[in-house]
Amino acid sequence: MTHILHRAIHSKLPVAVRGQGIEIFDADGKGYIDASGGAAVSCLGHAHPAVLAALHEQLDTMAYAHTGFFTTDVAERLADRLVDDAPKGLDHVYLVSGGSEAVEAALKMARQYFVEKGEPQRRHIIARRQSYHGNTLGALATGGNEWRRSQFRPLLIETHHIDPCYAYRLRHEGETDEAFAARSAQQLEDKILELGEDQVIAFVAETVVGATSGAVPPVADYLKRIRAICDRYGVLLILDEVMCGMGRTGTLHACEQDGVVPDLMTIAKGLGGGYQPVGAVLLSGKIFNAFANGSGFFQHGHTYMGHPMAAAAGLAVQNVIRNENLLANVDAMGDHLETRLIERLGNHNHVGDIRGRGLFRGVELVRDRSNKTPFDPSAKLNVRIKREAMARGLMVYPMGGTIDGQTGDHVLLAPPFIVTDRDIDTIAERLGDAIDAAV
Ligand code: PLP
Repeated sequence: MTHILHRAIHSKLPVAVRGQGIEIFDADGKGYIDASGGAAVSCLGHAHPAVLAALHEQLDTMAYAHTGFFTTDVAERLADRLVDDAPKGLDHVYLVSGGSEAVEAALKMARQYFVEKGEPQRRHIIARRQSYHGNTLGALATGGNEWRRSQFRPLLIETHHIDPCYAYRLRHEGETDEAFAARSAQQLEDKILELGEDQVIAFVAETVVGATSGAVPPVADYLKRIRAICDRYGVLLILDEVMCGMGRTGTLHACEQDGVVPDLMTIAKGLGGGYQPVGAVLLSGKIFNAFANGSGFFQHGHTYMGHPMAAAAGLAVQNVIRNENLLANVDAMGDHLETRLIERLGNHNHVGDIRGRGLFRGVELVRDRSNKTPFDPSAKLNVRIKREAMARGLMVYPMGGTIDGQTGDHVLLAPPFIVTDRDIDTIAERLGDAIDAAV
């Protein structure tokens, strides 16, 4: 009898006892290829010696110092590093312990920015349906995943949602990328005008949608149009790269591929690769300066922000990615993964779409491929796929069920950046077998 309130009370979990490279081993010695990095976290796989060494060294030196009293060399070095590698304009860093904390902080920075600027009337946040920004109340309110939100709705701050740029389901027959991008982005302008052109604080979006839709990248030009609309009305653009960022799509930040720089960017998961809980907000000089020249502080804070162990993990992981030139491997192995998925599943009766960027790929499952009809949620396809994959020694991240007409079942893949082409072949084969067994 466990005393832990696990995520799913009635499911029996194997006990993880060891991680090595791309595998996790359970108490019976069975290995599972971590093809989802947990939830797009373990970007270096497990037990990377350079990260372990950095963590041991930090632990011997300074495990914790409250940021109300001290800064630490390791936190300063991580911030320098993140700014050096960030798109031009994002020149300050706020260090937290995970993705939801990063999103909460970004929302509050955006609001405080307008208070400092003398525009306190701005109070609306616009985000997108079929998005996930975290489970704390502000982040949950921002996200548009009704399955996660519905029972908590009375506690959520008012937010406004437009459609995502979800080509597989929302693009009209024969519509070009350009027309689809324009039509999708226009929803933002319409919503800003509906709420009042000087009433909106920020628009929040995942650059590549992760948990809710399964690695859905925007079509070309969509984010450029979004950026232009935000600029037209002085609305801040917050890109949530908690899942898709830090190299996962082949560039350090996914938005580099869209030629767009947000005002605020949230990062987490791959930042510390799971070696410690760590997240961050990258913020532009204009926001930092509004605080610096105004009240002189950001009205926020957490006990563990800027934690030295977390910073050490972030710095070590980022050093390994650079020193081992792993973004090139993400690119090459991402292409290989796409090829293998198409070979194994491209003609599958129940596979509607295979998509993504780099080592961030999604497979959408449908009951009827000809008209994209999703499976009924009561089929619990995601649960069955996970069970079949785990039985075959494979960790993937299936999400599912159509709720309120939202996305259908999908499987998310986010293997470590160190995978080889043979690992990818095994992942595609095992996933194909698991899907065959589950549908
Ligand atoms: N934002 C995005 C895009 C996410 O995918 C997630 C988690 O999956 C979060 C925020 C929340 O991060 P965390 O679970 O670390 O709080």
